[in-house]
Amino acid sequence: MSTNRKPKTAATVAKVIFGLLFFDIAIAPDPEFDAGSRGVAIILGAALLIWAYVPYRRWKMHKQEVREEIERQDREIDDLKEALKKRPWKCSRCGATTRGEICEYCGSPREK
Ligand SMILES: [Zn+2]
Repeated sequence: MSTNRKPKTAATVAKVIFGLLFFDIAIAPDPEFDAGSRGVAIILGAALLIWAYVPYRRWKMHKQEVREEIERQDREIDDLKEALKKRPWKCSRCGATTRGEICEYCGSPREK
């Protein structure tokens, strides 16, 4: 069972609505409901709200983890690009081994 997928919006909304309906039953001024049924209604309502919230929260956290991983990899790529720029190269004009964007010896630009 994949737990990291986005919960279906309709399912989440349905759970919240039914959860709130149970809370509504729990506080209804209907004399037919005794304390026991009101307690059950509160538990069922809370269970439905938790059932709606937990997968949604899990999905949000997973999304955040993926976002952070992408950012981390982007930084890694930037570091590699920087390292590549700093690597010594052989100037095709004067033959010297040099660093940077232009040859330190003859001023020729680095060939890509
Ligand atoms: Zn050179």
